[in-house]
Amino acid sequence: MQPWLGDEEVEAVTEVLRSGWVAQGPRVAEFERRFAASQQAAHAVATSSCTTALHLALVVAGVRPGDDVVVPSFSFIATANAAVYVGARPVFADVSVETGNLTAATVREALTPRTTAVIVVDQGGVPVDLDAIREVCDPLGIVVIEDAACGAGSTYRGRPVGAGAEIAAWSFHPRKILTTGEGGMLTFAREDRAVRARKLREHAMSVSAADRHASLVSPPESYDEVGFNFRMTDLQAAVGIVQLSRLPEVVARRRELAAVYAKAVADIDGLRAVADPAWGTCNFQSFWIEIGSAYGTDREDLLTALAEAGISARRGIMAAHRQPAYEASGVSLPVTEHLTDNTLILPLFHQISDSEQARVIDVLRQGGARR
Ligand SMILES: *Cc1c(COP(=O)(O)O)cnc(C)c1O
Repeated sequence: MQPWLGDEEVEAVTEVLRSGWVAQGPRVAEFERRFAASQQAAHAVATSSCTTALHLALVVAGVRPGDDVVVPSFSFIATANAAVYVGARPVFADVSVETGNLTAATVREALTPRTTAVIVVDQGGVPVDLDAIREVCDPLGIVVIEDAACGAGSTYRGRPVGAGAEIAAWSFHPRKILTTGEGGMLTFAREDRAVRARKLREHAMSVSAADRHASLVSPPESYDEVGFNFRMTDLQAAVGIVQLSRLPEVVARRRELAAVYAKAVADIDGLRAVADPAWGTCNFQSFWIEIGSAYGTDREDLLTALAEAGISARRGIMAAHRQPAYEASGVSLPVTEHLTDNTLILPLFHQISDSEQARVIDVLRQGGARR
């Protein structure tokens, strides 16, 4: 992945610097408004990262120490860590081999009497089948939080991912579709949750810094609970506003590049590429391929062959339950383990050239048996 940044972002940051207001202020508020509108969410609250957004989401959802939170292991480790931050236990559920995402069946299997929340992920930008999972969880009063860190620009049943979630969390790390350097966002269906999140991200202060500075004599602030500093800066939000305006173009380009890879991979025995599920479309944030036994070369050797051709690919999505931090869970997740061991992520970014992509495809063809 390479971020796609241009002169417009440079100008936007310069303008903020010249304004003298660099911390959370009018640009953050504008970014929130625009993001909510583009994702068809009722409310948006910017944060310092998706990790802090997930942490805040669990607090606002009412998850308490001793609770269980069902999460995929097949995700960046921040998904599981968020549960630990609020004193809950992450309970790992397996994923579907087609999508790499939790399903209603794998979630149901992982529920315990102490489960109060489930974090589903749109892994690599593949939309999760949220409605099916909410059908299991909603009647039990279990909050489903969508970790849409990779999901900007993907759709679910004709709407942006996250639009059908009670709470969704987004990332603007440079590895994701939109970037602000570091940064995150929460979107909410319910206003009371958005109001509480907005307050908690700013030390639970009763009067926001922006409101205090807007008046010469501000009312004394109070702190009704223990909050956090999870604020985004106006410098970041200014970049985010420009990046958001590029989203349709970025996603169209990624889908075009993904289609070229998909066509090539379909003609190579033993390889399978990530694809749109029946219920939505992918932004192809991570274009992964699965290396099957019919390919004749394993994942590690293919990575080496790519590296020798000067191509930087990456091992597939990690499995958190295998990391030392979570080994004690002792859980066995066959599909997660299969995917994490047998997939790799191909280079795919806005500026990649046709000839660069053709070189990647050449190595894939040489690595395996031709049809
Ligand atoms: C990247 C990522 C995160 C963490 O995002 P940050 O903004 O870097 O904190 C969380 N969840 C998933 C699924 C991710 O891919």
